[in-house]
Amino acid sequence: MSYSLPESFLKRTWAEIHLDRAEKNYNILKNIIDPAFTRPACVIKANAYGHGDVQLMKCYSGMGADFFTVSNINEALRLREGGCKGDILILGWTSALYAETLAENDIIQAVLSAEHAEELAGSAGDKPVRVHIKLDTGMGRIGLLTENTDTCSEEILRICSLNGLKAEGIFTHFAAADSTDSDCVSYTDEQKRRFFEAVSKAEAKGCSFKEVHCLNSAATLLHYDKRSTLARMGIILYGLKPDASLEIPDGIKPVMELKSVVSYIKQLKKGESISYGRTFTADRDMTIATIPAGYADGYSRLLSGRNEVLVNGRRAKGVGRICMDQMMVDISDIPDVHEGTVVTLFGTDGNETVTADDLASIYGTIGYEIICGINQRVPRIYIKDRKITEIHEFI
Ligand SMILES: *Cc1c(COP(=O)(O)O)cnc(C)c1O
Repeated sequence: MSYSLPESFLKRTWAEIHLDRAEKNYNILKNIIDPAFTRPACVIKANAYGHGDVQLMKCYSGMGADFFTVSNINEALRLREGGCKGDILILGWTSALYAETLAENDIIQAVLSAEHAEELAGSAGDKPVRVHIKLDTGMGRIGLLTENTDTCSEEILRICSLNGLKAEGIFTHFAAADSTDSDCVSYTDEQKRRFFEAVSKAEAKGCSFKEVHCLNSAATLLHYDKRSTLARMGIILYGLKPDASLEIPDGIKPVMELKSVVSYIKQLKKGESISYGRTFTADRDMTIATIPAGYADGYSRLLSGRNEVLVNGRRAKGVGRICMDQMMVDISDIPDVHEGTVVTLFGTDGNETVTADDLASIYGTIGYEIICGINQRVPRIYIKDRKITEIHEFI
């Protein structure tokens, strides 16, 4: 570990957030989109996928980012209160009860349907609510339906003409942009076709949009399109893959690493068992280390018996069930392990790496769920240029 933790810091389990990697990822990604047409919109919903929303907003703002997206009004207000000067778009639903709060805080709201638009417009105060109109081109989640782009463009036009709203943008979301299967590729192409057709028809009727956008991380990598003025990148900014099968650009690195320590070491005799349910019994004498991290920290119990952690640059296999607050690993072949030795649950130690994507694939989920699931018992330590810039403890 290249930095030193303060004496007073409880060295239990913590997440390192490497801000220099976040900056590097941002730069690499900014350069794969055409800056004459498209700029990054940093997706920092869900506390920036667990990394800390205000901290990451500041980091990307420092890199020149001026557009941020979140999932709800509380997240949007946190960013504003945290000093965000850029645009903030709420991608999901907000009740019209908050129309004035949105306008007062200069927050852009997605419009999910014609009714939603009317409710927001009807509740707006003196200041119009800035909105981006969402089109459902095949995600099946939220947005105006686009089977018929003529009727859709009429609906768009009506929304654009509502007093109380300022329709600045229009967007859609791809359902399968992360797959290279030909079915999924043509599905994405069809989503794009419908989206830009509906937008063109609305523009022909007199609407005009500052922002027209459809790219998420996967689409930015695989389906880049200059007509999209924003690239709404989430997972790739944090250095993980939209899908395990995808190649990501060279130099992109995971921003978060999850660390813990060895709290206890014991010799296990052949025939003795470990943890709840006695799912593991030693078939030889072994050395076992206990680590104070478990599923209550976001390290899933589904990893029991299938996980590996890094200790002194070596891989140590998990043994027995992962508990709420602790887990055990086999360190029989790893020298020099002591109480307090740092353990990497995901991240890099020496020449070995375990990524959140690796853990996700073990139990059939995606890296997104792993990093979003590292919860508030786990302090976040912000690191830049090998120095700690902030320690954030939630509880
Ligand atoms: C979450 C989200 C994104 C970002 O997705 P990534 O796969 O993390 O890039 C983009 N757009 C919308 C509408 C989203 O909900």
